[in-house]
Amino acid sequence: MYNTKAFATLAQTSPLAPFNFQRRDPGAHDVQIEILFCGVCHTDVHIARNEWHGTTYPCVPGHEIVGRVVKVGAHVKKFKEGDLAGVGCMVDSCRTCENCKDDLEQFCTSGATFTYNAPDKVSGGLTYGGYSDSVVVDEAFVLKVPKNLNLAASAPLLCAGITTYSPLRHYKVAKGQKVGVVGLGGLGHMGVKLAKAFGAHVVVFTTSPNKVKDALRLGADEVVNSKNADEMKKQANSFHFILDTVAAQHDINAYLVLLKRDGTLTQVGVPAEPLSVQVGSLIFGRRNFSGSLIGGIKETQEMLDFCGEHNIVSDIELIPIQKINEAYDRLVKNDVKYRFVIDMASLK
Ligand code: NAP
Ligand code: ZN
Ligand code: ZN
Repeated sequence: MYNTKAFATLAQTSPLAPFNFQRRDPGAHDVQIEILFCGVCHTDVHIARNEWHGTTYPCVPGHEIVGRVVKVGAHVKKFKEGDLAGVGCMVDSCRTCENCKDDLEQFCTSGATFTYNAPDKVSGGLTYGGYSDSVVVDEAFVLKVPKNLNLAASAPLLCAGITTYSPLRHYKVAKGQKVGVVGLGGLGHMGVKLAKAFGAHVVVFTTSPNKVKDALRLGADEVVNSKNADEMKKQANSFHFILDTVAAQHDINAYLVLLKRDGTLTQVGVPAEPLSVQVGSLIFGRRNFSGSLIGGIKETQEMLDFCGEHNIVSDIELIPIQKINEAYDRLVKNDVKYRFVIDMASLK
């Protein structure tokens, strides 16, 4: 075991504060990574503040981890000391169930081991995430990060990138299609970049008029102020696919009716309270309403390679870890352009 410096929340209403804990020494299949940067996902806020009612404290959030390999176990094949490495939302799974065998470990029937706030099958206790200076992960769950990308700006690919890449691929978004992205935050701005790279005509729906210029710069072909009923009406029955990244309560029916016949709206944002669906918005047009959870390890690597080839990274605001509580408050106010990333050098 070795000492790890981190930031943790100790209770639902406590701010994040310095915290020390022990990580296991790397086993035969493990990689030890010095964490250089960690993205700040809205999920971190939901969990740190117990908004989904499943948090155990102390909680060290963070699942958009990039860094450098400092030690590898005897049987590690993919990594060597000095390599760049990434860790996303999962650090383990059963590896034998139907979903694991299909490279969809996020749906492991015995429950994937998430990077933080999950029972740690190896060391006991709970997993602690990336708001820390080091992490030890089985190489099967460690990703190769393209060398040509800005490292800090590639951290958000590990969650925001794969969470948007996976449904866009699953529903075969391609040239000639009209695709909507609801909410221009961390996930949303990656969704715009990826849908554009896949060749789609991309429309951003935002509640923040001050993000219109940025949406166009990020690649959107059109931007709709979702609070303006006339602007919304003009988009009726026209979308092949809509990706909804909104983290709060909102009217989902206003978007379902924008789908063409047989179109699909996939929810990736996770409001704490249930959304109310008008069945009429589904049955007229045989429309589909679905959800999607991050992506498997194989697809996460495919996404990272794709981003390397196409030079896609996140637009980030780099912060020292001491600013994390302020960053959370700004995230909740939709004041993010478009992902906070923690510079872990500030933890030293
Ligand atoms: P974020 O950066 O805060 O972005 C969310 C965006 O949603 C905001 O920037 C805002 O965009 C819009 N929004 C917020 N409140 C709204 C409201 N009341 N009505 C309408 N729009 C609103 O968050 P994120 O990190 O992208 O995460 C988004 C959600 O996805 C969170 O719930 C997170 O837990 C979830 N998530 C899910 C997965 C998965 O696997 N399914 C993975 C990661 C995260 P505008 O200002 O443009 O309106
Ligand atoms: Zn996330
Ligand atoms: Zn499994």
